Amino acid sequence: MSDPIPRKGLAPKFWEKKPLKEMSQTEWEALCDGCGKCCLNKLEDEDSGEVALTRVACRLLDDSTCRCVHYENRHEFVPDCIVLRPDNLDTHAYWMPLTCAYRLLWEGKPLPEWHPLLTGTPDSVHDAGVSVQFDTVSEFDTPFEEWEDHIIEEPT
Ligand code: SF4
Ligand code: SF4
Repeated sequence: MSDPIPRKGLAPKFWEKKPLKEMSQTEWEALCDGCGKCCLNKLEDEDSGEVALTRVACRLLDDSTCRCVHYENRHEFVPDCIVLRPDNLDTHAYWMPLTCAYRLLWEGKPLPEWHPLLTGTPDSVHDAGVSVQFDTVSEFDTPFEEWEDHIIEEPT
């Protein structure tokens, strides 16, 4: 499958040399592995602050491609969809999936070996079983009371 995220022409291993806050927009976007896990609904324990990902996907997620079907104008449909940026990562990193490249780099960790920036193909995230491909349920069909039954164990 062709890579929907432009990753050509970037400096080799730029993410090891450049702080997140100094990255260009293209470098920043290229860090996304395309797993789709940030588009899953989450449950957060108000007391402990613990966050659990569920298999219940945002209405705009296509789980065959793990992409948002209306990415450019998604806020018309999902006003509270977060736009992750270098200057708000401190606020959001805690709820991001454990394998998310933004969270990993924010925590000072390396990118995993299946990351498309290292493998050269977007398929590697699916082949590694890390993405949500063909593995979600619809938020339309799943009442909130049942979300707990769909909690997934990370990092899978
Ligand atoms: S969880 Fe992170 S790496 Fe995965 S799709 Fe979302 S932003 Fe990209
Ligand atoms: S609106 Fe799009 S980008 Fe935002 S959570 Fe839903 S599917 Fe993901």
